[in-house]
Amino acid sequence: MRRPVIAGNWKMYKTIDEAVSTVADLVRLVDGVDDREILIAPTFVGLQAVANAARGTNVLVAAQDCAPHPGQGAFTGEVSAEMIADTGATHVIVGHSERRQYFHETDASVNQKIRACLGAGLTPIVCVGELLSDRDSGAAEGVAGRQIRGAFEGLTGAEVVRTIVAYEPVWAIGTGRTATPEIAQQMHRLIRETIANLVGSDVSEAIRILYGGSVKAENVSELMQEPDVDGGLVGGASLDALSFSRIVRYE
Ligand code: PEP
Repeated sequence: MRRPVIAGNWKMYKTIDEAVSTVADLVRLVDGVDDREILIAPTFVGLQAVANAARGTNVLVAAQDCAPHPGQGAFTGEVSAEMIADTGATHVIVGHSERRQYFHETDASVNQKIRACLGAGLTPIVCVGELLSDRDSGAAEGVAGRQIRGAFEGLTGAEVVRTIVAYEPVWAIGTGRTATPEIAQQMHRLIRETIANLVGSDVSEAIRILYGGSVKAENVSELMQEPDVDGGLVGGASLDALSFSRIVRYE
């Protein structure tokens, strides 16, 4: 049985004070929820303060990105996976479509970042997903499959199983246009089959695959009913503690 994960991505929103106050509200609102993992990803500057505020609770903390290089070094502006782990954060979002689109993230750099996270004992949340033009031209499955193969290239099954995948169709992110449960299921199944071909079905059946793209309290339950949907990566609707807690508490 795969343990569900509901993760919130705060992107470039919230001051440190706002982040701490929102996570304190969230901790109170999701108190006692212990049959699923709850994650929140603040900005780098808020990471330490949010990790401190969430310490000892059922809310885990993620970074939104990390350097492809491990440890320390002359890489101005970068934050390594070890530095993220040092804050008390446990997860890192890797390869988000906004990073692919605006910051030249490639499958090769995603692969390096996954390796950096695993080396630091962190869980990477590996994002894949097609553009609207890919979907319209019938290329959605090919794109997601290529991104998965690129992300996991050269990794062992023991490494891949320590990651989480997020399928996030770019046309559904921040648009209010959620993928239908049928599309989500079809793409999650394809991703699972791709992982099975890479590293075997033990891994593909154990790995959690989250859906992301305009998830809200109103649509989370129907998505979660699909057999290969193991959770959600939530952007806009995670910014408000009450709204996010209603998603976390889906039935
Ligand atoms: C995201 O940023 O990963 C995301 C899914 O955003 P939204 O929920 O706002 O579509």
